Amino acid sequence: MSSVRMKFLCDLDRCIDCDGCSVACDSGHELALDVRRRRVITLNEGIPGKEFSTSMACMHCTDAPCAQVCPVNCFYIREDAIVLHDKNTCIGCGYCLYACPFGAPQFPRGGIFSTKGAMDKCTMCAGGPEETNSKEEFHIYGQNRIAEGKVPLCAAMCATKALLVGESTEVDRIYRDRVVARKYSRGASQTPSTYPGNAW
Ligand code: SF4
Ligand code: SF4
Repeated sequence: MSSVRMKFLCDLDRCIDCDGCSVACDSGHELALDVRRRRVITLNEGIPGKEFSTSMACMHCTDAPCAQVCPVNCFYIREDAIVLHDKNTCIGCGYCLYACPFGAPQFPRGGIFSTKGAMDKCTMCAGGPEETNSKEEFHIYGQNRIAEGKVPLCAAMCATKALLVGESTEVDRIYRDRVVARKYSRGASQTPSTYPGNAW
C-alpha cells in the first residue's frame, strides 16, 4: 500500500469567490452544461466579519460512503487515495448522491437511464479506467493531469492559492505554516481523514 495520500484543502482566509477553479474545471474537462464537478459557495453572506467562501467538489473521502452504497461497485480507490469510478458500469441509480455528505455526484439529464445519465464527479484530474491519456479517457472523464505529473486544473488556476491539492502531509504543512505566519485562521474545508469526520 502506498504511503502517499492525496487530498484537497481550501484555505477559507484566501478564497475570494472568483470562480476561477470551477471555470477551469468546466472548460478544461469540456464538461456538459448540466454537470458541475466543482462549485464555489459563500456562507453567512452579508454578515460582517462572518462571510466566507470555499471551493467544493468530491473530497475523495477516506472510507468513501459513495463506494460503500454503490450496488454495482463502480467505484475504485487508487493507492494514493483518489476515489474514481467507472461510468460504463454505473446504472444511474443515484445511491451515491444520497450517501455523499458533499453532494458531489452529478447526473446529466437526457441519458439512457430515463432522466439521469451515468454519474459524473471530480476525478482530481486522474481520469478513469480507460487507457491513460487516451481519447476515450478524455471523452468520458476529462484530462488526466495526474498521469502527466501536473497539478489538477482547479488548484493550478487558483489565483490566491487558496485551493491546495497534493500529498496530504505536504498540504497540511503548507496550511499550518500559513496560519503560523499570519497568526489567524478561519479554518479550511478539506478531505475528511475519516467518515463521519472532520470535514472542516
Ligand atoms: S465526496 Fe462524495 S463522491 Fe466524493 S468520495 Fe466522498 S462520498 Fe464519494
Ligand atoms: S481536481 Fe480536476 S476534476 Fe476536480 S474539480 Fe479540480 S479541475 Fe475539476
